[in-house]
Amino acid sequence: MPGTRLSETPACERLHEYLRAAQSRGRRAARRGTVSRQVPALAGIPATSFAMAVATVDGTEAQIGESTTGFSIQSISKLFALCALLRHDPRAWADVGWGPTDAGYGSVADLERNHWRPRNPFVNSGALVVTDRLLTHTGDAVEATVELLRTGDAVYSDAAVAGSEMAIDHRNSAIAHVLAEHGRLTNGIDRVLPQYFAQCAITASVRTVARAALFLADRSGDHSVLDAETVRRVNAVLLTSGMYGAAGDIAYRIGLPAKSGIGGGVLAVMPGRGTVCVWSPPLDGDGNSAGGVAAIEEFARLAGWSVF
Ligand code: GLU
Repeated sequence: MPGTRLSETPACERLHEYLRAAQSRGRRAARRGTVSRQVPALAGIPATSFAMAVATVDGTEAQIGESTTGFSIQSISKLFALCALLRHDPRAWADVGWGPTDAGYGSVADLERNHWRPRNPFVNSGALVVTDRLLTHTGDAVEATVELLRTGDAVYSDAAVAGSEMAIDHRNSAIAHVLAEHGRLTNGIDRVLPQYFAQCAITASVRTVARAALFLADRSGDHSVLDAETVRRVNAVLLTSGMYGAAGDIAYRIGLPAKSGIGGGVLAVMPGRGTVCVWSPPLDGDGNSAGGVAAIEEFARLAGWSVF
């Protein structure tokens, strides 16, 4: 709207302004990252892919880029699987922990140091326990996770992505064996691992992920998937453990609970206001989307989103 001051434009137009600025900063930062080769089927994803979506608790939405294209949400699924489990068992925290670690998300040594209890639900040992318990409660952890994400655009588990990770995996199998050895899994490894890989292989658009996560931002209870106390705890653990070893950096630069995945997705939550999700495949040295973090940093700065 030429000639109109930003503060006078409708909410949606203002969000679009912020998204345009965030996109240009995110695209620049993405050039410094590298697309992960950990899951062979994802190694060829174009590094220039970019999408960003915002959803607010008052119902406003805005998107930019390939916002309805599905991407592999990978570890972002750990957040939705956790929330699906907490609906069945609000005390599941006791089995998966809630404290941070700087040991990396696939550390067997850290699991052993912590007497075989995972540090939190976002490291792989914790996520495997979440998948195991969700499988017990629902009979299908993948479907229970997908169900939380279904908000319009297609959401499905990509069998080719799951199969390609499973075919080369040793690390998650090792973690699952250690968990099983110490009685931390209620189902057999042969059931838990395929469910875990299929859960990581969930494909969804940034618009879907931002919409689906709104219950984590909504304090009115209108989107209530979980009670307010559980939502507060999930956001706290996201802030301290959702971004691999970069929690301090993300708190300092952005100040929002957030979760990322090696597919290049990042989701951030502003309690009381809304959610923002970016997909930009190249990752930085911490394993977070380089473009995603930069784009959310710019968006949060412009929108005044920070929990601090
Ligand atoms: N499927 C990947 C794994 O289990 C997900 C890693 C991630 O996105 O952090 O290692």
